[in-house]
Amino acid sequence: MSDFLTRLLRPNIARLRPYSSARSEFKGQASIFLDANENPFDNGLNRYPDPLQWPLKQQIATWKDVLPEQIFLGNGSDEAIDLLVRMFCNPGQDRIITLPPTYGMYEVSADIAGVEVLHIPLSRDFQPDVDAILNAADERTKLLFLCSPNNPTGNAFDIDKITALIRHFPGIVVVDEAYSDFSRQESILSRIKQHENLVVLQTFSKACGMAGIRLGMAFAQAPMIGWFNKIKPPYNINILTQQAAMNALRQPEIWEEQLSTILRERDHLIHALSQMPITEHIFPTAANFVLVRVGDPDGLYRFLVQTGIIVRNRSSVILCEGCLRITIGTPDENSQLIQSLQQYAAL
Ligand SMILES: *Cc1c(COP(=O)(O)O)cnc(C)c1O
Repeated sequence: MSDFLTRLLRPNIARLRPYSSARSEFKGQASIFLDANENPFDNGLNRYPDPLQWPLKQQIATWKDVLPEQIFLGNGSDEAIDLLVRMFCNPGQDRIITLPPTYGMYEVSADIAGVEVLHIPLSRDFQPDVDAILNAADERTKLLFLCSPNNPTGNAFDIDKITALIRHFPGIVVVDEAYSDFSRQESILSRIKQHENLVVLQTFSKACGMAGIRLGMAFAQAPMIGWFNKIKPPYNINILTQQAAMNALRQPEIWEEQLSTILRERDHLIHALSQMPITEHIFPTAANFVLVRVGDPDGLYRFLVQTGIIVRNRSSVILCEGCLRITIGTPDENSQLIQSLQQYAAL
């Protein structure tokens, strides 16, 4: 492990003696397990889950073309975000950098941990301000969160800007790719081989259609993944989740088909919106949602609620003034949405 990375780690984490679970201590072959105080009667779920989820990680490694040792699995990406903050940021001393408007969990995790957040807003066209970020960076800014494609704006960041930040930011760069399946821009996952300060987050919650199982992935070089494993709750991924994910990975054609439907529907919704007088601006999107600026976002939001349709009102968010964020639904749901929008426009 390089000095650079080791210096970023919190000293108490470096010193930590992790919890050693019964399932991780015993390494050999056995048929009778009297080591973990479980109920011995088999119902498929009476045993604790594999703490490191090896069979599932093997499948993910093949799918993503990385090594199993380069994968951390969390109870949603949200767990990976939380662990990153606690791994690197000393409360009351270190800081994270976020680029608003962006995903809210980076800041919430930092707030809970007592870690200050430095906000460096995106430019008008929703791109990172590389110079401002690098000027603000010092030995206390441990983490930089880049969300690409970004939530709630929907755009992917310029790959040159992401690359410059990975190269020059003096801390850990976390690239949250929750929406990269919906983007034409290639994932930067393969770059973890070159950059020891890069962590890439992906999730089963969006394109894979499994938000309910709570499974997020963090990819990085093996030493960094070792730190995740050191501080995570021992049994953070339950057996049902591991099984459901392995089943889903055996039939990827199901969600690949859904993905192409969602992309087609995205074009359709954007076209319909562009024809409506209430639409002031449709922001380009590389995600499964569209950010749209309208004249009266609160009024439109309330109208849609009355017709049983909930969208996300982002109109009070910096740089998103007047905007609603609309997730792409099924073809049927989108038709109903478009109908409601046309009714509203005709009022
Ligand atoms: C939805 C979303 C996630 C996914 O979080 P999970 O905890 O994996 O469900 C991560 N990042 C962003 C930016 C998101 O919008």
